[in-house]
Amino acid sequence: MPTRESWTAHARRVLPAMRAWRTAIHQEPELSGEETKTREKIVAALNELGIPYRTFHDFPGVIGLVGEDRAGPVVALRADMDALPLTEATGAAFKSRFPGRMHACGHDVHMACVLGAAAVLSRQPRLAGGPVKLLFQPAEEEGNRGGALPLIERGCLEKPHVDYVVGQHVLPGLPLGQIGWRTGAFMAAADHFRIAVLGRGGHAATPHQGPDAVLIASEIVTGLQALVSRVRNPLDPVVVTVGSIHGGTRNNILPDEVVLEGTVRTLRPATRDLIESTLKRRVASIAASLGARVRIQYHRGYPALINPPDATRRAVAGLTEEFGRNRVLEMEHPIMGAEDFARYLERVPGTFWRLGVGVEERPESLHSATFLPDERSLVLGAAALLAATEGLQRARP
Ligand SMILES: [Zn+2]
Ligand SMILES: [Zn+2]
Repeated sequence: MPTRESWTAHARRVLPAMRAWRTAIHQEPELSGEETKTREKIVAALNELGIPYRTFHDFPGVIGLVGEDRAGPVVALRADMDALPLTEATGAAFKSRFPGRMHACGHDVHMACVLGAAAVLSRQPRLAGGPVKLLFQPAEEEGNRGGALPLIERGCLEKPHVDYVVGQHVLPGLPLGQIGWRTGAFMAAADHFRIAVLGRGGHAATPHQGPDAVLIASEIVTGLQALVSRVRNPLDPVVVTVGSIHGGTRNNILPDEVVLEGTVRTLRPATRDLIESTLKRRVASIAASLGARVRIQYHRGYPALINPPDATRRAVAGLTEEFGRNRVLEMEHPIMGAEDFARYLERVPGTFWRLGVGVEERPESLHSATFLPDERSLVLGAAALLAATEGLQRARP
């Protein structure tokens, strides 16, 4: 193979453009499903680069295509577009112009990296081993239907058919410059539930007169933990969290109703089914044993993200050639967060990895008002996308 410049060197050359795209996007963050100004910025960048794209009148996603006439497998690079309802406290010169809206999950970096990779390939089409699709996807943070499904329904995996789909997400818990990958289950399915405990309101001094919704709700919160400790296999990770309890108005009145809301995280489809059915039965029986009725709403969100071994290893081979073995690390454990990138992997092979952006001076976490990956993550992320694409597009040995 003839020697060529590293992808990092190519990415460095487009850093000024990436910085400008990232800055503009970061300053005007938009919440899930409302990413129209973000779309305008992406469209402007694609126009600037001479890259053809599709947009939709009813949905803010964008699909671009670089190197349509290149022979070789089609790789799709996905970036999520939405921001979060937080007021930015990073103090950055390019901080959000809108109180209550902020790119606190790094999606601004993801978009700039995909644009950067596209810029490299559009300037030097011969570097690409096949066509590269660009998927700019809204509403990743939304958690229910998300944005991947609507983009898939609009044909993002066809014409041309996508052979591999690639995604990355910044991770401040991983040192800057490292890449964390994993085959098999990598991120969790996230379902949520709402349980209304229907008791009988009345004077707090006469609790014997009716089912006490507060007490029964407490029994349910405690009882649900047995799903984790006594229903699933201890070697198979499950999270059941009740995140909110609402009921009552003051100390001496029993409320008619208490509402619990929570989330269930699982990695295997069979475990997901098991926890859902057991949760419903358990909640109903706890309530019944104490004389109350319950209304249970259980909603399935994103499925588990499963990285297929073959595509992952091919992408990792490309990443390792670029960054070296000590920077491309197999992650020991899955992450119980969720990602609607899982929807693409249900349909085509591909892989998803975590991009280390952690620096000691700024030990923030994702979704915090002070989270701000520095611009070295742009070169790193664009180079990673290019290197993985090369790994996937290379002819099979
Ligand atoms: Zn997020
Ligand atoms: Zn995110």
